[in-house]
Amino acid sequence: MLSNFAYVRAGSLEEAVDQLSSNNARIHAGGTDLLGCLRDGVFTADKVVSISRIKDMRGISRTGDGGLRIGALTTLSEVAHSRLIMDRWAALAQGASEAASPQLRNQGTIGGNLCQKPRCWYYRGEFHCLRKGGDTCFAYKGENQFHCIFGGDMCFIVHPSDTAPALVALDARVRVVGPGGNRIVPMEQFYVLPGEDVQKETVLDPEEIVTEIVLPPPNTGVRSYYRKVRARRSWDFALAGVALAMRFNGRIVEKARVVLSGAAPIPWRSKEVEEVITGRPLDAETIKRASDAVVKNAEPLEHNGYKIPLFRGLMEEVLSSLEKA
Ligand SMILES: Cc1cc2nc3c(=O)[nH]c(=O)nc-3n(C[C@H](O)[C@H](O)[C@H](O)COP(=O)(O)OP(=O)(O)OC[C@H]3O[C@@H](n4cnc5c(N)ncnc54)[C@H](O)[C@@H]3O)c2cc1C
Repeated sequence: MLSNFAYVRAGSLEEAVDQLSSNNARIHAGGTDLLGCLRDGVFTADKVVSISRIKDMRGISRTGDGGLRIGALTTLSEVAHSRLIMDRWAALAQGASEAASPQLRNQGTIGGNLCQKPRCWYYRGEFHCLRKGGDTCFAYKGENQFHCIFGGDMCFIVHPSDTAPALVALDARVRVVGPGGNRIVPMEQFYVLPGEDVQKETVLDPEEIVTEIVLPPPNTGVRSYYRKVRARRSWDFALAGVALAMRFNGRIVEKARVVLSGAAPIPWRSKEVEEVITGRPLDAETIKRASDAVVKNAEPLEHNGYKIPLFRGLMEEVLSSLEKA
């Protein structure tokens, strides 16, 4: 059941920031994650501030340098169906189209997708876990089949968003506005590991709002791709996923950014894979080395060891499909 809270519809960004400065206020964009968290008692709110009327935060447009600006209130459906994004930043369109269900993609925004709360069933359930201010991670010795194999430290969540790994691979940045003005944060530095702060998922302060996502222009020869494996064919979060942005010179991989989903508490950059594929042709030997490298420093828990062969196979499949394309 929802507990009582005040509800405010901000007419401008300034008003939203002002309203958020009161204690225990929460941002409401599409509400698909926020309302579930409030209803299930994952956290409380004294005030909910809707940002949905802020027009400047919607839409997809080119930037002066040939890059892309996506307002944080743009829906996942709009991102998934944008011809421009499909053609030039394909991994992002694929990530958005793989997230949730059609109904949720029509309502859910890309800003909300980046800031959604983790899906650990202990965190979402009636367990006073570390992330909720308790002193135990119940997943560590419990039902941890959907938890992380990299970056776990006290808490073993996996980051839930399908667009975030694509945005990290594509070297995107977000604009954040708060009481002190605005700042630009590279997506790669937007998320926080449990070892840094176990109660935060992002670098945002409570009164800060993500207003837009900015992508650099795609370089010639760059191909990007997102592939996600889930337990069933209808909507589900990633058991394992990989986002790639690779620049080719002929058959040689000149530059690569490889980011895993379903693997770690943050979108997890696999420097191990990047290292073994950069400067090499994407042939059978490189692909074999990449599928070994992707799990090199993995630390599976008691029930999620299946993610090791899953990530190996996924890496092999994705790189093989790019080799043949
Ligand atoms: C059944 C189900 C299945 C799902 N499956 C997937 C999936 O497979 N892959 C996937 O990626 N996602 C999945 N999701 C998550 C879904 O994509 C998100 O709920 C949605 O994108 C959130 O967008 P929203 O606009 O509704 O955010 P809201 O629910 O309004 O907000 C989500 C959170 O972000 C904060 N927030 C929102 N906008 C901003 C902003 N601009 N700046 C700062 N903070 C902000 C809110 O305060 C809140 O904490 C699923 C959700 C459900 C309910």
